[in-house]
Order: sequence, then C-alpha cells, then structure tokens
Amino acid sequence: MTPIDPETIHDVEGVPLHSVHRHDVVVVGAGLAAMRAAVEAAKDYDVAVVSKVFPTRSHSGAAQGGIAASLANEEEDHWEWHMFDTVKGSDYLGDQDGIEILVREAPVVVREFEHMGAPFSRTPDGRIAQRLFGGHTKNFGKGGPILRACYAADRTGHALLHTLYENCVKEGVRFYPEFYVLGLIVRDDVCSGVVAWDVVNGGVHVFHAKAVMFGTGGHARIFRIASISLSSTGDGPAMALRAGIPLEDMEFLQFHPTGLYIHGILVSEAARGEGGYLVNDAGERFMKKYAPDKMELAPRDVVSRAMQREIDEGRGIGGKDFIHLDLRHLGKDKIMTQLPQIHELAWKFMHVDCVTNPIPIQPTAHYSMGGIPTDNDCQVLADGKAKKVAGFYAAGECACVSVHGANRLGTNSLLEASLFGRRAGKSIVRFLRTEPALPDLPADAAKEAIEEIDGILSATGSEKTGAIRAEMQQQMTANCAVYRNGCNLEQLRAEVASLRERYGRIRIDDKGKTFNMDLIDALELGRMLDVTEIMVASALNRTESRGGHSRTDFPKRDDANWLKHTLAHRKNGAVAFDYKPVVITRFQPQERKY
Ligand SMILES: Cc1cc2nc3c(=O)[nH]c(=O)nc-3n(C[C@H](O)[C@H](O)[C@H](O)COP(=O)(O)OP(=O)(O)OC[C@H]3O[C@@H](n4cnc5c(N)ncnc54)[C@H](O)[C@@H]3O)c2cc1C
Repeated sequence: MTPIDPETIHDVEGVPLHSVHRHDVVVVGAGLAAMRAAVEAAKDYDVAVVSKVFPTRSHSGAAQGGIAASLANEEEDHWEWHMFDTVKGSDYLGDQDGIEILVREAPVVVREFEHMGAPFSRTPDGRIAQRLFGGHTKNFGKGGPILRACYAADRTGHALLHTLYENCVKEGVRFYPEFYVLGLIVRDDVCSGVVAWDVVNGGVHVFHAKAVMFGTGGHARIFRIASISLSSTGDGPAMALRAGIPLEDMEFLQFHPTGLYIHGILVSEAARGEGGYLVNDAGERFMKKYAPDKMELAPRDVVSRAMQREIDEGRGIGGKDFIHLDLRHLGKDKIMTQLPQIHELAWKFMHVDCVTNPIPIQPTAHYSMGGIPTDNDCQVLADGKAKKVAGFYAAGECACVSVHGANRLGTNSLLEASLFGRRAGKSIVRFLRTEPALPDLPADAAKEAIEEIDGILSATGSEKTGAIRAEMQQQMTANCAVYRNGCNLEQLRAEVASLRERYGRIRIDDKGKTFNMDLIDALELGRMLDVTEIMVASALNRTESRGGHSRTDFPKRDDANWLKHTLAHRKNGAVAFDYKPVVITRFQPQERKY
C-alpha cells in the first residue's frame, strides 16, 4: 500500500480532500461510550474525538432516569442479584460472561463518575441516592423491586455527559465537532482510520490512526414514533456493514412503554419508579393482568406488549391508540423535585399539567439491542465470532457485546456505555503499547467517500430524501413495532427494497459545501436504509418471540431452535445469516414471569 501524501491530494472529482489528520486514537462519537473511552486513553495517548453533533448534544445527554449499580446505599444489594435480573431481563439471550463484567464493575464505574465530579442526587446522609426501575429486584427475583438506579434528578445523562466532556478537556482530548464520519478504512482486517465530511466548511478529511473506536449510538430513528435524538441514525453499524462486518441481533429493538402520544418523546421509567400508574379507558391498572407481581415495574418489553394489547383490544383512552400515565397521587412536591423534566415535557409538548392530569402515552422506539459485534474487551469481530479487526473497537448503543440480549433493563444502558467505553479505552491503551506504528494508509482510502459525496451533490433524480425517510419511518412503526408477523414483514421487506431503489434516484436542492444539511440528511438516510434492511430481514428470519421481538405468528420463545445470536450481513445483494451460541454460565434459561 502506498501511503497517502496529505500535501498532494486536493480537489478529487471536484470535492476537495482538505487534509489528513494523524492521531494515536480516533474516537467517533461523543456520547458516554465515546468520551469515557477518550478520557481513559488520553491519559497515555493523543486522542481525537470526531462527532457529527457538538459533544454535549449527544443523545446520552437526554437520558433521564439513572445508571444501575449494586452500591447498596439504600438497601441490601449484590452484583449476583443484578446479574440475575439482567440475564432474565434479556430473555436469556444476553451473554452471561459479558453480563458478569457489567454488574461486577458497575459500582467502580459509578464511583469514578462521582470522583470526576458528577452531581448525583444524595441520600440524607450524603451517599449517592438510588431509585426503583423496571425489572430490578431483590434476591434473584424472589423479593420486590430494589433501589438500584443511581440518579441526578431526572437528568442523569446530562450530568454524566457534561462530567465526561469536562474531563476530556482536562485530559487534552482534541475535539472535531460537526464532522460527519462517512466510512471506515479497513483492509485485510486492519483498521487504519476513518474518512469524514466537514459539516461546517465542507470537504473530505482523512483521520489516520493506530486505533479507531466507535461510540456512535443507536438507530431507533428508523421509526416514526421514537424517543431518540434525530442524530441516532445507525451510521456506525451501517459503516461496519459496508466494511464487510456482520451485525448482531438486529431484530431486537426496544419499545419503551411511555412515549408522549404522537411525539414519541420519552417519559422516563423513573415516573413509574417513583410510583406512577398506567391506566386504560376504564381507569383500570391493567398491568395486574399481565405482571401481577411487578405491575408497572415489569421490564419494558412486558409493559409495552400489555399496553399495545389494551390499545388493540379497544381499551385505549377513548378507544384511541394511547394509554394514561397517572402521576397525580404522587403530589406536586414529589413531582417537582424528583421528576421536574417530565413535568416540563408533558406541559410543553402536550399542554398537560401532570400534577392535575394524567399524561397520554404510547410505546415508542427507544433502544437498539443489536449492533456491531465485539468481544468483552470491545474489539470488533470481523466475522461476528472469533476473527478480530486489528485496531477497531466499539462500545455503547452501536455495539453488541451482548449484555442486553433480547431486552435491556432500564438504567443498564448508561452503565453499559460508560463501562464498556472505559474498557475500550483500556484495551486501546494495551494495544498501543504493543503496536507503536501507524498502519499504512491505503492510497484509495478516501475514494469511496469522495465518490459518495460527489454522487449525491451531482445527482439529478426526482426523489426527495425527506419523502423516502418519512415513508420508511411510517412503515417501520406500522409493521415492525411491538408486535410483528411474517406477512407484514414480507411486505415491509419489499417496501424497503423499493425505498432503497428510490434512494438511488434522489436529488438534493442545496449543492453547496458549507452547512449543507440536505447532504447530511441524504447520507443519513442511506445508512438508515442499510440498517432497516438488516433489521427487517432479521425479524423475518427469527421465527419465535423473545424479549423485544414479538411475532404474533410465532408467539412462543423457542430455545430449541433460537437460543442463539443472529449475525446478518449483505452478500450478493441479499441479506445472509450466520449464528453463534449464547454464553451461559450461571443462570439456565427459565420461563420468564413477573
Ligand atoms: C430519552 C432517553 C432517555 C434515556 N434514559 C436512560 C436512562 O435513564 N438510563 C439508561 O441507562 N439509559 C437511558 N437511555 C439510553 C441511553 O441514554 C443510551 O443508550 C446511551 O446514552 C447511548 O450512549 P452512546 O455513547 O452509545 O451514544 P450517544 O450518546 O447516542 O452518542 C452517539 C454519538 O455518535 C455521534 N455520531 C453518530 N454517527 C456519527 C457519524 N456518522 N459521524 C460522527 N459522529 C457520529 C453523535 O454525534 C454522538 O456524539 C435513554 C435514551 C433516551 C433516548
């Protein structure tokens, strides 16, 4: 391979290649996973963070309810209890070796946040306060709900994200905000960097690095009703897929029960953790029929299915497609101190004062359990199994370790992002100690990216990206949401193929280079369509119901055939599948009841 010479390459095909940046480590994204990795690696190495939005606008900042750790500040707790809950919550699809790491290291990660300056809410005697969350229980599920979620009012993600940003600045991390990463540079299972578009000034930039880490977040924006930020478009998984890496368990997407009606904006599970009720049109707390023990604090897949069933059977409020979340009995004081953001969101978006009125809610696409396959040290697996990509790491919502299996428990994601982000940072440091040289940069490293940008800017088709995106999101919410079936998924697959074909005929109006959001929208849509295709094919392929994937035509969990992870990739224009076994160590699969 001939190394690229930064001085000689400009204006390729009319799109200027502005520069080649060199760093020991390039971290893509600036959420909890990315910045936790950056803080860790920056103690020893030169680290750059490249993010399409300004770091503190990453979706992690919207997280409300809390971060799980068995600190036992409020009542007796043990990592083994947390492990049991997480394994059962995952519908036994989570890998138990990874889950053990998650729950054992959780207290360390939370205390480190405290020492970095995170402003947690406190108990009267000054320790980190903890609250209830769905699926977290005492004594291996035999006791009631447990106070395990550490929180900063209902703005936990905001507090942790800002803490990490400040610590990155302190450690001298170099930030490249508003750079849209277009593709990975991987040849022969060696990663040597990424290619990015400078959103502010225009131009393609190459980031040449010894190690690349992805913390690019989730992809629930492929749905119309979604709680996640507009920037959560699955760019990371799509880039991995385009580099030939399969995606793991993409059929599993979590629908959070309490999205604000029509908007999908999240009302944190903390609302139920603090004692909120779910009621149907008859004013009945219907969860007693579906999860008599845990009621509103059953895991999210269970609650979303119950709500959807009430709606489908005509017991939504006024016969419509929403349910009520009732907080009135909590009283104004509790609402305003423990759930101030929820009060504000309900007021601003629905004109509902939740002190005096129930909030209209419906299930909303929330969290991506599937993603880029990694080992427990966050190194990306080239074949999803054992073969590794040298110098390429991923953590957080874009990755699949897999600790959440088929369904994630609330507050386990901020934990996973921070904890595996930290592990990724440590793995990268270990790798760099043994591999001091920059890998060669292929001469055509930026070719594909330049062709893509050039292609979109000069396209003369008739299709609009906004229309294709709206159609895709509408179709996904209609046919691939809480309940799915083979017939709808087949139709959806054909629909997605036709949307991909239409995408090949787009035209954008803004042909400029600076702040061209028309261009960014088109790039994101291409990646969302890639992820959508894989998700729909994976959902069609898995003929059972487990966690976040519920098939009305295959309503039972089928451990004999499906206690395994899906690995999906594109082969000869179609989606092809491979599988790998689930790692089971301490807890054998059982029927899941709450
Ligand atoms: C409303 C809401 C509330 C939540 N509440 C909780 C909670 O209370 N507890 C909990 O545990 N979990 C919660 N979650 C889930 C949790 O917040 C997320 O799963 C987690 O924060 C994801 O972190 P991340 O670091 O993986 O990615 P993110 O925080 O999503 O960051 C992704 C980053 O990648 C960057 N990026 C993406 N693509 C590109 C690209 N092409 N080029 C450059 N940069 C790119 C973005 O700019 C961004 O910086 C909540 C989620 C939502 C949506």
